[in-house]
Order: sequence, then structure tokens, then C-alpha cells
Amino acid sequence: ATAFKGRRVAVFGLGGSGRATVKSLVAGGADVTAFDDSPETVAKAAADGLPTGDLRAADFAGFDSLVLAPGVPLTHPAPHWTVEKATAAGVEIIGDIEIFGRERAAIAPAAPLVAITGTNGKSTTTALIAHVLREAGRDVQMGGNIGVAILDLAPPAADRVHVVECSSYQIDLAPGLKPTVGVMLNLSEDHLERHGTMANYAAIKERLVAASDVAVVGRDDSISSAMAARLTAAGGHVVEISERDRLDLSGARALRGAHNTQNASAALATARALGVSDETTFAAFRSFPGLAHRMEEIPTSLRPVFINDSKATNADSAEKALASFERVFWILGGKPKTGGIEALVPFFGKVTKAYLIGEASAAFAETLAKHGVAFDELGTIERATAAAAADAEASGEAEPVVLFSPACASFDQFRSFEHRGEAFRSAVKALDAARLAS
Ligand code: ADP
Repeated sequence: ATAFKGRRVAVFGLGGSGRATVKSLVAGGADVTAFDDSPETVAKAAADGLPTGDLRAADFAGFDSLVLAPGVPLTHPAPHWTVEKATAAGVEIIGDIEIFGRERAAIAPAAPLVAITGTNGKSTTTALIAHVLREAGRDVQMGGNIGVAILDLAPPAADRVHVVECSSYQIDLAPGLKPTVGVMLNLSEDHLERHGTMANYAAIKERLVAASDVAVVGRDDSISSAMAARLTAAGGHVVEISERDRLDLSGARALRGAHNTQNASAALATARALGVSDETTFAAFRSFPGLAHRMEEIPTSLRPVFINDSKATNADSAEKALASFERVFWILGGKPKTGGIEALVPFFGKVTKAYLIGEASAAFAETLAKHGVAFDELGTIERATAAAAADAEASGEAEPVVLFSPACASFDQFRSFEHRGEAFRSAVKALDAARLAS
């Protein structure tokens, strides 16, 4: 990064984005000291030729900047020791997205940059915007909180668009970022452990869109709509978007549900701001493959539609999925969260039958029984999938839907929601193969 040439930079946290940061800074001529709380991680980085050093022993007055990996606590529960040392020495604390922003300002200030944030839908919207722009023939680099670390992407250039997903942690550490288009989808209570209060969490996200040439802001929750009003009053170029916007998403199979209308509306506003025709954008909506494990349709030769929504690790997310269909054969369960599925009771009328797996089984069975929903306790994803598929096949419904939206964490039976989603996919594929063989 040329913007850091000759500067002394401490980098803390040597995961993927930290390592990309170190390499980029070194390539740009910065004097870097890289460190991590894990001695093994430091040893590996040193073995790979990265300039490691013990920051615990360092005098922070000797540094110009401290670059933190996202997720290192700035304030809450307790600030990290590097934060305390840097603050005491008056050293600025930034993240990799800020480095990217300064690099862009230095080498290609007109390079288009789209930054996406919000509590829910960030990854979907980021991937959708990147897909639309690629379909429009643009040179697109996508990364940040999704996929590739931002400093591992190709550098900014006037004819290259960077589409970057930003968590609130990352925005917090990118005070100087000025996107061409800033997208703020929605805000609900989440991540309050780090940002303390909702007002603070909202202010961090507002800063991003306020600094954008075009601010695309949701108006489906009270905090976001107040934000949109403030930005408009301040004379910003604001485009408000809503899950109630009337977009023709017929044929866009990966954009089912009102929540995806909000995401698509944000993508449409962004594409317009970057000069893409609506015709190209809507064609791209129809060809958008969607993201794995988020209401992902698994193609089969079977009659039911199989939807993998393993990412739904809480009732809120499962609600979005249930709201997206008329009727479902619903597979759910796992490691339950506080509140269980009580919040989903208003959607129980859509459930033809429920198929329970994992630790939550007994508790969920009780809730379902209380509300007269038919269910079976199947234990495993394989058994639940087979049972739901058989019932869906046998039903008279024209296009029966088998929905795997667990409303639970995965850790009772799986390593991650991705691992769980793959298990569902395998179970569906096995049924498909058995059918083809018979
Ligand atoms: P994030 O990257 O912000 O975690 P994702 O795009 O990965 O969001 O979507 C995660 C889940 O959030 C989806 O499976 C869906 O249940 C829900 N979701 C997606 N988009 C929205 C939205 N615009 N509003 C509310 N919930 C959403």
C-alpha cells in the first residue's frame, strides 16, 4: 500500500485478513511489525517470511498506526491490550478496509467502490450486486467480510468496481472510507456486546452511508428510516429502499421472500447509480444463483422443491424462510437458542408437518403440539429429509416445498452451519440418486 510508504505499522491478528494486510503493507514500503496472541500463529507467519515482532514488548510511541483484525475488542467486554497501548500512545487504530480506502484515494480516487452493511442480508446483497455488475460486463472485485480479504483483491482502478461487505466492526475501523455507493440495509439488535448501545451501533453504520456519494438506505425498521431522513435532511443523495418495493422478481428463484425484495431493491439502486440499465439488472436477478445455505434451492429430479436454509441459526432467520412460502414440510432443530420457536407461532399455519432433529427436539415438539402442528421426531438430518420428502411426494400439493430452516445453532451435531447444510444437500442428493436408480 503506497499510502503507508515509510510508515511504522503494528498489525495485530494474523488470520487471513491480517496476513493479507501485512503483505500489502510490506509491498507498499511500510515498516511492519506483525503479531498475534497465539504463538503458533506468529511462528507460522515468521516461517512464511512475514515481519513478526513481539508487540507486548514494543513501545507504541514508535508506531504511526495499529491495524486490528476485525473482532478484536475495541471497547467491550474489555479492550484488547493493543488497543490500550495504542490509545495511551495516541496511535491511530484502523482496519484493513481503511488501508484499502487510503490506497484507493492515493492511486485511483475515481475507482468505484460499493460498501454494504446492515444487520441482515449483507452477504446476499453483496453477492447480488457483484453478480449484476459482472453481468453488465464490469470488472468486479468482491470481498471484505464475505470471501476474500479486501487486501487480497486486485487493487483499485478507475475501470474496476470493488464490492465490499462491511461488518460494523470493520466500519468502526475505517473512519476515512468514502464509498461511491454505500448500502445500509436494516438494523436490529445484534452485536451489541461490542458496540454497547444500539445508538452507537447505528451511528457507526450511519457514518459509512453519510460518507458515500450515493446512500442506499432501508426504511423497513425505525432506526434505518430515521437515518435515511437525517441523511436526506443533510442534503445527501439518498435512495430509500424497502421490502415492499414493487419489483418484478418472477423467475428470480434465489430471491424469494420479502427480505430478498429489500436486498434486490438495494442492488437495483446501486446498479442505477453505477449506470447499469434496469433491463440488465432484472435479467441478472433471474440468473442470480444465490448463496449456499441461504434459502438455496437444491436441484433434483424429484417432485418436491428442496430448500437448504441451514444459515437460519435463529428464529428470526427461520421466520424469513417461512414467510417466503405458502406451505412447507419443515425440517428444524439443532442446538436451541433462547426463546426456542415461540416467535414462529404466527407462521405455524403454513406448516403441513414438522420434522425434528437434534437437541431441540423435545422442547420444539412441545411447542408444536401445543399449537396443533403435526410433527415427527427423527433425530438425524438424513431421517428427517427422507421422511419429509416421502410426505411431500405423497401430498397432493402442486409444488410441495421441503424446507430445511433449523432455527437453531448447528453445534450439537455439526461443525458449522455450512457442514449442516452440506449434510442436508447430501441427504437430498441420496434420495434423488435412489429415485433415479429405481
Ligand atoms: P448477513 O451477511 O448480514 O449475515 P446473509 O445475506 O448471509 O446476511 O443472510 C443471512 C440470513 O438473514 C438469511 O438466511 C435470511 O434469513 C436473513 N436475511 C437475508 N436478507 C435479509 C434482509 N434484507 N432482512 C432481514 N433478513 C434477511
